[in-house]
Amino acid sequence: MNLQQVHARNLIEAERFEDAAKIYDGLGKWKEAGEARRASKRTVVTQVQVDVNSLIEQVRKGGLITTYSCPACHSPIQISGSTDLSALSHCQYCGTTIQSTDLVEFLTHVVGYR
Ligand SMILES: [Zn+2]
Repeated sequence: MNLQQVHARNLIEAERFEDAAKIYDGLGKWKEAGEARRASKRTVVTQVQVDVNSLIEQVRKGGLITTYSCPACHSPIQISGSTDLSALSHCQYCGTTIQSTDLVEFLTHVVGYR
């Protein structure tokens, strides 16, 4: 266990996954580098989910009702404070998966964040 590996582990503790992955790249430890990058993706997914939740909460507090159009079939998908998150994972009309990141961007505009 050399110092760089210790440092890489500390970076993972600190959720600085990409920095850790670069160190592993440098050491030729491809498996560890991949694990660090996958951990980083999982963290992003979790954060987006939290963002959608808090944005829906803002919609609820503001008493807003808005309509998101499906990126595939352009069907209207109504979003209000009582909308269940699971209903927003797929278009109810064509079944297309709705990207959480797109939803976050849309809702961010709706609630007036910059
Ligand atoms: Zn659709």
